[in-house]
Amino acid sequence: MNHGKKDIKSMTLEELKEEMAVLGEKPFRAKQIYEWMHVKLAEGFEQMTNIPKALQEKCRERYFYACLKPVRVQESATDGTKKFLFELADGKTAESVWMKYKHGNSVCVSSQVGCRMGCVFCASTLDGLERGLFPSEMLEQVYAISRLTGERVSNVVVMGMGEPMDNYENTVKFIRLLTDGNGLHISQRNVTVSTCGLVPRMRELAEEGLQITLALSLHAATDEKRRKLMPIANRYGLEELMEACAYYFEKTGRRITFEYSLIGGVNDRPQDAVRLAQLIRPLNCHVNLIPVNPIKERNLRPCPKENVTAFKNMLEKYGINATVRREMGRDIDGACGQLRKRYGENKR
Ligand code: SAH
Repeated sequence: MNHGKKDIKSMTLEELKEEMAVLGEKPFRAKQIYEWMHVKLAEGFEQMTNIPKALQEKCRERYFYACLKPVRVQESATDGTKKFLFELADGKTAESVWMKYKHGNSVCVSSQVGCRMGCVFCASTLDGLERGLFPSEMLEQVYAISRLTGERVSNVVVMGMGEPMDNYENTVKFIRLLTDGNGLHISQRNVTVSTCGLVPRMRELAEEGLQITLALSLHAATDEKRRKLMPIANRYGLEELMEACAYYFEKTGRRITFEYSLIGGVNDRPQDAVRLAQLIRPLNCHVNLIPVNPIKERNLRPCPKENVTAFKNMLEKYGINATVRREMGRDIDGACGQLRKRYGENKR
């Protein structure tokens, strides 16, 4: 619900058919409207040229139509990455990132406005949580970017602002709509959801019958160290976290991705790599190493290049697959929550 109206872009095709039945419309109207929203990426009912004016009007009265407009766009001078700050219907803002890779175009989507997880290196959490995003608002980040760039999106990562497992129902519905054969039909295998480790929700996600990749933000290989970086580690320890990852793989057959942000002098020594290798070796997994993007509000040291390489080599010595995330968009406040934070500061 939004402005007291039902959110039409968050509806499944089945739900939309029920709505049309209530309005006394034929079921094929649902299919047409659904296609306008999710395939042709229409910006409003008025663009739906094969829908009679009277029905367009009825829809406008009854439904909220999510359509995001950018209030800021920043383009990286070095790698083509673009960062968008979108305004939502209630005036709040959410950021999304567009990245071009050899294997296709990727959009990084936010799941919440702000975040309440409190990770010490992250800018999204500095002002706490404002609210979760609706499925329509997550979809629109992808749709608006497609419209603005005129290019096809092949990969979607839920790695922007917010904790997707703290907005569980909306995130799962978003994934179902995004990958629906009647919609944009992005392959589930090209969708990744990243979590800081809400164990019960990870287990629930394993049961959804989805073929998406689960990424776990680990950042430390001991409970003691992890608790210093991520408050959620006080709630769920590494043992149950690893069990949940194994369960996800068992249920879905999808290899887990571990994210590990390297922070100078904190978690980037060779013995940290050995500990990490020992912890995750039993799992079928892959490690993404992210040199920390130091945010000005926190006193964190970047990780020297040679430590990044040594860390990766050590993991590989233990037979663990690791890639260093290309540091895209560093020159445009690429890290989670940075752009929104700046925008808020300038407005104030
Ligand atoms: N809440 C989810 C998804 C969002 S963040 C999660 O925690 O996984 C996407 C990834 O970027 C996470 O691994 C997060 O820990 C990491 N991250 C956040 N801020 C960062 C920064 N300043 N430098 C490096 N990595 C960062």
